[in-house]
Amino acid sequence: MQNFLLKGLLSRPATEPAPTPAPAAVAELAVSVQARARQRLGRSLAIRHVDAGSCNGCELEIHALSNPFYDLERFGLRFVASPRHADVLLVTGPVTRNMAEALLRTYQATPGPKWVIGAGQCAADGGFFAGSYACCGGVSAVVPVDLHIPGCPPTPAALLRGLLALFELPA
Ligand code: SF4
Repeated sequence: MQNFLLKGLLSRPATEPAPTPAPAAVAELAVSVQARARQRLGRSLAIRHVDAGSCNGCELEIHALSNPFYDLERFGLRFVASPRHADVLLVTGPVTRNMAEALLRTYQATPGPKWVIGAGQCAADGGFFAGSYACCGGVSAVVPVDLHIPGCPPTPAALLRGLLALFELPA
């Protein structure tokens, strides 16, 4: 027991090294998204995130956008609590049958013009859960999708690139 305690006190923590500060590329991307949002909407971009049955891997990356590491609210990107305040629905997961009605109602409650982004492979085609009796097989099976962001899960940088690509779509 004493040896065990001594070993615990003297050995280095068994964790990964701390990440380096937020990559400049991500900050640059965020500034671009903000500029395009102001150009296109005249204000910042409001995003409503909808978890339609995700494994929560995509959520970890989406939440990372708001943490002190990326701190993207400083660039005018906002996650909002109600679809009535949103420009973009950011949907994750293969859309479980239990969530299909909720997703459809959220879409209907979002004022136009609106965009729908499917984030992650599950949102594109069901991903790992494709073919399951419990899933619809992707977001486009329930609501129209403007853009898919690939990845399992997509990184914060990939999510920002997706938002930028959205502004390239015709109004
Ligand atoms: S795309 Fe990957 S991380 Fe995202 S919900 Fe599906 S399995 Fe999870």
